Amino acid sequence: MKHAIFRGEGRIEIAEAPLPCAPAGEVLLRVLACSLCGSDLRPLRNGWPVTPGHEIVGRVDQPGHARHGQRCLVYIPVWCGHCALCRGGHTHLCENATDLMGWQRAGGYAEAVTVPEQCLLPVPDDVPTHLAPLLLDTLGTAAHGVRLAQGLVRPGPALVLGAGPIGLGALIVLQQMGFDPVEVFDPNGFRRGVAGELGGVPLAAVDPKARYPLVLECSGKDAARQAALEAVAARGVVIQLGEADAWQVLETKAIRRKDFFYARSFYFPVGEYEANVALLRAARPQCERLVDARVPLAGLEVLFGEFARGERLKPQLSLEVPPSALAGATR
Ligand SMILES: [Zn+2]
Ligand SMILES: [Zn+2]
Repeated sequence: MKHAIFRGEGRIEIAEAPLPCAPAGEVLLRVLACSLCGSDLRPLRNGWPVTPGHEIVGRVDQPGHARHGQRCLVYIPVWCGHCALCRGGHTHLCENATDLMGWQRAGGYAEAVTVPEQCLLPVPDDVPTHLAPLLLDTLGTAAHGVRLAQGLVRPGPALVLGAGPIGLGALIVLQQMGFDPVEVFDPNGFRRGVAGELGGVPLAAVDPKARYPLVLECSGKDAARQAALEAVAARGVVIQLGEADAWQVLETKAIRRKDFFYARSFYFPVGEYEANVALLRAARPQCERLVDARVPLAGLEVLFGEFARGERLKPQLSLEVPPSALAGATR
């Protein structure tokens, strides 16, 4: 099979490898699509020991297995099912999940990957393959974050900082959950425009005097974190979805002199999957807008360059469409 090797400094090599053999408790999955993620930019920059790619949908190719032939998504944490957190339903926080698919274990920028059975999430027939990966990081993580805030804030105005894939996913989720208006800040005019197309109120700057009961930080940038903590209203909630290795915030008066809640969403429990499917069904046109390019393995390096420059929203590696049909799709 072919798979991608991330060499660092933006270089991706496509190489041949033997088809992996699924050990007991795992299945072989033929990859149909794998969405690019902002977190993949780290392997792209630094190189990576295994094939990355963690927003995977594929078809199970394990004759005799109950899921043989089914389309399935891949849940990232390899959860154990018996620790206290798993038993409490918090499978994404499993104490024994040392391996994450596409991080410590080989991921989806390949023609096939082996997947532990408990990480298979069956895709309903009415959900098209190219939209299915949005159910994971894009909608799943954002929806889990908003669910954490439920009980603390009622649907109303919200602010989203950053209109990358996570921010736009958060916008879709907030609208579906009844938040209105949803203002979306991004310095990138293209992304801001898309936020407007999707029904958000695009902001070229955050008003330092404005206060919001709910703020979602979706950029991982220091300036946005600072703005999130200042812009949250008293008794409001900040939800952190963006990631960064190190960050620095100045505790200004606008932060110090109020009570507020701070939540971080890391992925979602498997128990929320059905509700996330319902969100996707209800917001299908918006979800279609996010998937703005689909390329075969040979196009992955160029696509990552475009993605890293902020020219793409939520593009994907697609192994179900012949390359000839895709020539126009990358422009
Ligand atoms: Zn991701
Ligand atoms: Zn566990």
